[in-house]
Amino acid sequence: MANPLYDRLFGIHAGKDTPFLYLPDGQTLTHAAFLDMTAQIANALTGYELEPGDRVAVQVEKSPEMLALYAACAQTGLIFLPLNTAYTTTELRYFIENSGAELVVCDAAKEQDLTPIAAAQNARLETLNADGTGSLMRRALGMLPAFEPVKRTEDDLAAFLYTSGTTGRSKGAMLTQANLLSNAQTLVQEWHFTKDDVLLHALPIFHTHGLFVATNVVLASGGSMIFLPKFDLDEVLRWMPKATSMMGVPTFYTRLLGDERFTGDLSRHMRLFISGSAPLLAETHERFEARTGHRILERYGMTETNMNTSNPYDGERRAGTVGFPLPGIELKVTDPETGADLPQGEIGMIEVRGPNVFSGYWQMPEKTAAELREDGFFITGDLGRVDEDGYVHIVGRGKDLIISGGYNIYPKEVELVLDDQPGVLESAVIGVPHPDFGETVLGILVPKPGEALDPDSILTNVQNVLARFKHPRKLIVVDELPRNTMGKVQKNALRETYESLFT
Ligand code: ATP
Ligand code: MG
Repeated sequence: MANPLYDRLFGIHAGKDTPFLYLPDGQTLTHAAFLDMTAQIANALTGYELEPGDRVAVQVEKSPEMLALYAACAQTGLIFLPLNTAYTTTELRYFIENSGAELVVCDAAKEQDLTPIAAAQNARLETLNADGTGSLMRRALGMLPAFEPVKRTEDDLAAFLYTSGTTGRSKGAMLTQANLLSNAQTLVQEWHFTKDDVLLHALPIFHTHGLFVATNVVLASGGSMIFLPKFDLDEVLRWMPKATSMMGVPTFYTRLLGDERFTGDLSRHMRLFISGSAPLLAETHERFEARTGHRILERYGMTETNMNTSNPYDGERRAGTVGFPLPGIELKVTDPETGADLPQGEIGMIEVRGPNVFSGYWQMPEKTAAELREDGFFITGDLGRVDEDGYVHIVGRGKDLIISGGYNIYPKEVELVLDDQPGVLESAVIGVPHPDFGETVLGILVPKPGEALDPDSILTNVQNVLARFKHPRKLIVVDELPRNTMGKVQKNALRETYESLFT
């Protein structure tokens, strides 16, 4: 029976004894073995009396079994709902209640805490541990390795992915089979993935980057992955000679550059390095090229849309930009107040439309109505502009925009100046409450290793290049910026920390 997502990503590999996952212990899982495991899990899921469209909330460590659970949800028509492994029990309660999950799968270490939460929802609770043990696999291993995919159409929901919660409470983005498939197929073509690719996969698979971008692209192209549980520098360096490509968040690249073992020789054979999920500093881009000869390909996307733009595979990969809209995806820049289209070159709200755009936030009709226009454009919440060559520049989030004394200040513009100052590794600029100006500019600086910063002289330098209303009122030096697992700077946390600095 037809099930487009399963058929096109997984079913196409039936019976193939080609490698799919290279595991850290040296074992290799073939496509056929992975599909056997998937079918066994699908049979186990059927025994839990779930209906297609039911939600399966999953908070487990990255493992081949977790990936097979994603495949099994596709095969059985269940909605896969992976959750960040960092979430605490209190946070999990929100996700389990909000999603109305019918099945919760967690690590055995969390079982006791989650039992009452699952029970209150009438949800089943099963365990899956990092090593593949637990009640789910105990049941699955006794099942037949064959399962007829449940009939689905491209418009059926395939996954709920919660946003990272960078700007507020996480929202459950409802993604259809068509959303996932269209993006996977586009990215395979744009990034030239083939069955010969071996992707170095050190990203988490509870987030769109590691799950849909990385995994779906490899599945759609028939390639394989080196499937590492997390980004461990030693392991990444050890496996790189076997890889052809890597996808990472910017911190992967800064960490590689921070290690002398990462040399041109180690990476010369690589075909492609891709970065996303947070802005890649132009400086990182340049240092990476100087060390390896490779230009990192930066792309831009989000939970609600998968990928929207990408720098070109052939052609100039421009540092500090996220490239061009992908084929089939429209991107426009609008006035954040009125929604009217802005002339090319002006900064405004980025909106996107295409087969990749989600169908709404789960049980948040007002949020959906506010961010998803009737004509299909999604208001991303990111501010940016398109330059004269068509490259998209992200200047920051709408919610991070600082309005001081009636003037709009884009934090990125001030951050770029601060980053250029002697001894500065990176910076974050935020707005904090101020009695006269409503908000004022605060700069937070991280020094390069071993350097001491002189905030007064930096402030003087900045005053020479930026208009007065953009001047930081104060500069604060910290050891590091607060970041989440995807390397995103947590400006909400910074705003809270410094909220009463001037009041
Ligand atoms: P929430 O929506 O809950 O506040 P979030 O937006 O951080 O969280 P994600 O969907 O994981 O959740 O992240 C998408 C966001 O990440 C984008 O809207 C954008 O701000 C940022 N992003 C992704 N790729 C890039 C990039 N290459 N450059 C700059 N920002 C990027
Ligand atoms: Mg978001």
